[in-house]
Amino acid sequence: MMDTGQLHDKVRVILNDVKANGDKAVLGYEETFDHVQLATLAVSDAEIMEAEGLVSDELKAAIRLAKENIAKFHEAQRFAGVQVETQPGVTCWQESVAIEKVGLYIPGGTAPLFSTVLMLAVPAQIAGCREFVLCTPPGRNGKVHPAVLFAAKTAGVSKIFKIGGVQAIGAMAYGTETVPRVYKIFGPGNQYVTAAKQLVSMGDVAIDMPAGPSEVLVLADETANPVFVAADLLSQAEHGVDSQAMLVTTSMEMLQAVKEEVDRQLKELPRQEIAQKSLANSKLIVVSSMDEAINLTNEYAPEHLIIQTRDYRDVAKRIVNAGSVFLGRFACESAGDYASGTNHTLPTNGYAKAYNGVNLDSFCRKITYQELSAQGIGNIGKAIEVMAANEQLDAHKNAVTVRLTNIDNNLQSSIFNLQSFVRKNIWNLAPYSCARNEYSGVDASVFLDANENPYNGPINRYPDPLQTELKHEISKVKGVSEDRIFCGNGSDEAIDLVYRIFCNPGVDNAVAIDPSYGMYQVCADVNDVEYRKVQLDANYQFHADDLLKVSDNHTKLMFLCTPNNPTGNDMSHAEVEMLLQNFWGIVVVDEAYIDFSEQPSFTKLLDKYPNLIVLQTFSKAWGCAAIRLGMAFASVEIIGLFNKVKYPYNVNMLTQRQALETLRNAAQTKAWVEVLKTERSRLMSLFAELPLTQQVFPSDANFFLARVQDANAIYKYLVGEGIIVRNRNSVTLCGNCLRITVGTPDENDTLIAALKRWK
Ligand code: PMP
Repeated sequence: MMDTGQLHDKVRVILNDVKANGDKAVLGYEETFDHVQLATLAVSDAEIMEAEGLVSDELKAAIRLAKENIAKFHEAQRFAGVQVETQPGVTCWQESVAIEKVGLYIPGGTAPLFSTVLMLAVPAQIAGCREFVLCTPPGRNGKVHPAVLFAAKTAGVSKIFKIGGVQAIGAMAYGTETVPRVYKIFGPGNQYVTAAKQLVSMGDVAIDMPAGPSEVLVLADETANPVFVAADLLSQAEHGVDSQAMLVTTSMEMLQAVKEEVDRQLKELPRQEIAQKSLANSKLIVVSSMDEAINLTNEYAPEHLIIQTRDYRDVAKRIVNAGSVFLGRFACESAGDYASGTNHTLPTNGYAKAYNGVNLDSFCRKITYQELSAQGIGNIGKAIEVMAANEQLDAHKNAVTVRLTNIDNNLQSSIFNLQSFVRKNIWNLAPYSCARNEYSGVDASVFLDANENPYNGPINRYPDPLQTELKHEISKVKGVSEDRIFCGNGSDEAIDLVYRIFCNPGVDNAVAIDPSYGMYQVCADVNDVEYRKVQLDANYQFHADDLLKVSDNHTKLMFLCTPNNPTGNDMSHAEVEMLLQNFWGIVVVDEAYIDFSEQPSFTKLLDKYPNLIVLQTFSKAWGCAAIRLGMAFASVEIIGLFNKVKYPYNVNMLTQRQALETLRNAAQTKAWVEVLKTERSRLMSLFAELPLTQQVFPSDANFFLARVQDANAIYKYLVGEGIIVRNRNSVTLCGNCLRITVGTPDENDTLIAALKRWK
C-alpha cells in the first residue's frame, strides 16, 4: 500500500482536474482507469429497461424482499422529536430534516455490489432526500452491471452515472455539467475512493464515515458450531485481500475445529485466492475466559461481530464497541449484508469506537427550534444578560435588554402579534364579496343581481351582510366605533368563530375558568381544540397566575366571563387586566350580564389591549333572546377576521329590524334593568330566609346561585309546581346549587311561595 501522503497527492490531482474541467476530465479518467470511451456519463432509460430484462426473476424477487426489509427497519427509525418547555414560555425542540442532495457511490470491481445500492438508496428515500445521485464504474463494455441498475430502479434512484473511483467522488463533490453537486457522499470504495472522500470532506462536502477494509470477529465458546463459524470467517475473507476475519474463543477445541473447517470449506470457494490472502491477515485467538474475550472484542471494535455462545444475549449486553452485532448460531453476517433489514454500511478499522453505521439519521440533520414568549424571555432574560456581560459581549446582552424593556413599557403591543395567532389559512382569506354592499352608495332601484323573488317585499331581499345601520346604532349606545363591532347569531356564534379564527384543530388549546358558561367547552370540542379548565377559588374568583400556568405556546384563547355564569359574580377586573397584559394570546371577556353589574365594561380597554375581545348579547338585559343577536367588540383587525369567517348573511333582516327598534328605545332597557336589580335583592333576601336554603351567593347578574338542602329533589319538586329553575348540582363547585333567574315580582313571589311549601 502507498503511504498516505503519496496517495493523497495522486488523488488531489484528479479531484482538482474534475473540479476545473468537469465532464471532460471525468470522461478522460474513465478511459484511463475503467478503460472505456463513453459518449455520455448518464445511464439512459433504455439501459435501465434493458438491465431489467437481464436480471433473473429469482434475483429480482430476492432484491425486492431485501428492499422491503431494509425499508421496514429504516422506516422505524423515524425521529419523534419532543417539545421541551425548559422554562414557562421557552419552548425548544428538534426536527429531523432530510439532506436535500446526496451522492451514493457503488464500487464496481470484482463483485457488483447491488446490495449496497439498496442499503444507501432505501434510507435516503425514506429520509426524504430530494435528489440522489448514484455513481458506479462501468464495465469494459461501457455498461453498468444490470443487477446494480435493477436495484437502483427498485430503490427509486433515477440519476445514475457511469463514473468510478476518485473522479466519481470529485464529480459529486463539485458537480459537473451533467452530475449534480451533492451535500453528502455515501458508500464504500477502495483506498483511492476513501482518500478522495477524505479530501473532499475537508470543506466541500460531508461523507458518511471513514471507510476501510471490511472485518468480522466471531466470539465463540465451546457451544458454537465450527462449520457455521468457519463459513462466517470465509464469507468475510472473500470480500477482498485486505479483509480481516477474527475468531476469539474460550475453547481450544473450538479453535482447532474451526481451523479444520476453514481449510475444508476454502477449497470449495471460487474466490479462494482472495480469501486465502485475507486469511493471512486474520487470526484465530484462544483466551482463558469470557471476560477476556469480551475485553479483546471491545478493544478491536469489529465492524461485524458474531456472537455464538451459550448466553449470547448476556454477552451482547457487555459489548460497547461494534458496528453491527449478530446473535446466535443462525445469525450469519450475510443476513445483515443482504436481507434482514439492518444496514451493511458500517464503520471499520476500529472506528466503531466512535462511529455508527449508516442509518436513517445519516441522511438527515437535526434542526433545533426555539420559541420564546414574552413570559419566556422574562424568565431567562436576566441570566442571558449576566452571562453576556461577563463574556463582554454587550451586543448580546442588549438583544435581551431591548426586549425586556419593551415588555415593561408597552407589554401587549410589543408581545401581541395577531397574525401569528390566527389559525392557518385564515389570515390570507379574501373577505366574502357581497353585492349588497357594493351598491350601498349607489342610487339603484332595480335589483336583478341576487336571484331573489321580486315579490313579497321587504323580506324577499337578502339582509345587509355588514349590518351597517345596526352597527351604527350599537356604536352609539355602546360607545364603540362601528368597525370594532361584529354582530352574530347570538354571542354563541362569536364564541364558535373565535375558535375557528384562532385555533388549529388538534393542535391549539383554550384555557377557561371553571365553572363557567358551557358553550366555551362545546365549541372547543366541536372545533377539536383542547379545553383546559382552571377551577375558581372558594369565593368563585380566579387568579391570573393559575391560568397562565396551564397555558403554553399553543394556548390561543382564554375565556373569562364577568359577571360569571353560573356563579353570578363579577370577576376581579385587576386579575382580568393582569391576563390581558401577560397572556400572549386572545382574552375573550364575556359580558353577557354586564348591564346588571356595577362594574364598567371592558370595551373601554379595547384601545389599550389589542388581544381583547368583549362579548355582549341582546338576549339578557335587552329582552331580545328570541331574535338571536350577539356582539363581539374587538380591534378593527380582529373584526376583519370575524367578517372573513362568518356566513355572509349571518344576521337576518327581521333580527336587524327588531334590534334597531329596541336600541332606539334604550330607556326601556334601562328601566327593566333597574327593576330586575331591585327584584334581585328582594328575591335573594327572601330566598336566604327559606329553611331549605344553605347559602345564597352574591350576584352581579340577573340570576343568582343558591345552595339548598337537596338540589335534585327541590328542582324536581319545582318542576311539578310548574316552575323551572336551573339545577347546577353537577357543576364544579356548585354541589346542591340551583341557579335562579330573576323574574317579574309575581313570578318571584310564586317561586318563594312554592319553596315555602316544600317539606
Ligand atoms: N355568554 C354567556 C355567559 C351566557 O350565559 C349566554 C347565554 N346563556 C351566552 C353567552 C349566549 O348568549 P346569546 O344568546 O347571545 O347566544
